[in-house]
Amino acid sequence: MTVHDNHVHFHEGGLGRLAARVFRTIGGTSMTVVTTYSRSIEPWNYELLFRMTTEQEAAVRSEEVATLLALGPHPNSLIEILNHTRSLERAAELQRAGFVRAFDALEAQQAECLGEIGLATNYDRLEHRLTHLIPTLRELEQTILREAFVRAAELEVPVMLHTPTASPDSLAQIAKWAKEAGLSTDRVIQHFSKPFLDPQENHGILPSIVCHSSNIHRLLKHPGLTEHPFLLETDYMDLHPFYEQVCPIHQTVRVMYELEQSGRFSADQLTTMFDRTIERIYRVQPGVRIRS
Ligand SMILES: [Zn+2]
Repeated sequence: MTVHDNHVHFHEGGLGRLAARVFRTIGGTSMTVVTTYSRSIEPWNYELLFRMTTEQEAAVRSEEVATLLALGPHPNSLIEILNHTRSLERAAELQRAGFVRAFDALEAQQAECLGEIGLATNYDRLEHRLTHLIPTLRELEQTILREAFVRAAELEVPVMLHTPTASPDSLAQIAKWAKEAGLSTDRVIQHFSKPFLDPQENHGILPSIVCHSSNIHRLLKHPGLTEHPFLLETDYMDLHPFYEQVCPIHQTVRVMYELEQSGRFSADQLTTMFDRTIERIYRVQPGVRIRS
């Protein structure tokens, strides 16, 4: 059975390939490895962050887990960068340079997805003396996101959104920006979806549902479960300080097992359903190592 974890982070000092081995041993087949964070390197050093992530992804593949790679400047990094530069213009310049690097990697087919990108959620980390910049900062984030949509549309790459506090209304706005940029919403994924499974809530943006038990209870009861596409994720943090807030690496496997046990799907149906979604969003054959 296809068991894809759509959002996994590895970190320096974490379990790394050992976590991938556990995932594979209990039945996991593929995962999307997403850009790492590091408190030990400068937040604008995307060259190093992307290189570290690419190495982490290679370690996962060496454990015979198929991988997709998402590279992109995390919106929360913009806040950290601003704390250093204290200049919005300079911070924007450094963040945009990160996007250029990510797009270069995507164009060279060294990654499959732009992400995670989106809107910052860590304003509490902004230095007090900079808080007057917040309204301009919010506008800047939106501008950068919309620019990224334009380039993602040109390169025909999918986008993984970090918008954990998004409501159906704000997703409608984001879907509108994507369409205006020429990017089809069916190439946009909302990571950490609430879950917004219904098209009236997600506006065509694919929900990637974090495998918390409350989400899974709602999902299992949802009447549209067979009609509306979605993916599952752990948002695994690999012993990062946020580790406790997200799911352990085995959780997607467990949820797939629960879906099968619910009696609503066979293992084959689940495989077809997830393979189709993975294929549509990433335009790759699932379960296949796509890069050597
Ligand atoms: Zn993430």
